[in-house]
Amino acid sequence: MVKKKLFDKCVGLLEESGLGENAACEVTWVFEDVAEGEDITPEQEKRISDIVTRRCEGYPLQYLLGQWEFYGLPFKVGEGVLIPRQDTETIVDTALKMFAGKKDITVIDLCSGSGCIGITLERKLDCGRAVCVEKSEKAAEYLRENISLNGSGAEIVMGDVTDEKLVEDMPEADLIVCNPPYLTTEDMDALQREVTFEPAEALFGGEDGLDFYREIVRKWKKKLKIGGVMLFEIGIGQEDEVMRLMIQHGFKNVRCRKDLCGVYRCVSGIYEK
Ligand code: GLN
Repeated sequence: MVKKKLFDKCVGLLEESGLGENAACEVTWVFEDVAEGEDITPEQEKRISDIVTRRCEGYPLQYLLGQWEFYGLPFKVGEGVLIPRQDTETIVDTALKMFAGKKDITVIDLCSGSGCIGITLERKLDCGRAVCVEKSEKAAEYLRENISLNGSGAEIVMGDVTDEKLVEDMPEADLIVCNPPYLTTEDMDALQREVTFEPAEALFGGEDGLDFYREIVRKWKKKLKIGGVMLFEIGIGQEDEVMRLMIQHGFKNVRCRKDLCGVYRCVSGIYEK
């Protein structure tokens, strides 16, 4: 079949399913593996049609492709792990700025999931040690794969970030970074169709969405070196509460930063015992 014809047909199908907004862009991703030239083999056509049919049911494109890009690096994804989002690049940008030129730093990435934050930081900063903490076995399979895919030296620690014993056994860090589940009960009741396929345990942060911030700030601050940084991704409108929480726990220089859409997307603070 002629490539252009199939491409247009796929865009049309997505549009009819109410997924018109990014249709051409999404189909471009689906066609990414198809070599230049006009004709598409029957096998390619079958693969592409299967992906687009499933996508029209609202299934996430990233899971169908099995891989997604974050901060210019490839990450394997599939059911059971949160899809890396562009918003999350804000936290990486912030960490890279705060630690530019620093040597031999220890980074801990909590609620690591695919590892997009921890692995990217390990690759882009001068890390003596990078530890990714994850409790879900399924997510950790992707994490493991992504560490090797990116030639990263990050370590994995399996466990629950709220477990005091786990905290005790961790090294002291220069940077503790975390994109915790932060959606509220109300958010969970109004999820976009795509997001309902992602693991609820990676999304739901308790009634007001702030459970993980409360637990992590309290339990992990003692794992920061003097002058160490705690850095969170936050949901829309959570900046005041998370900043207040960090100030209450003795953090200094507490700040929030916006993402590319102008939404406050991360909060950082410096711990001075
Ligand atoms: N940003 C995600 C969403 O909007 C939520 C991820 C999270 O809870 N950390 O669906």
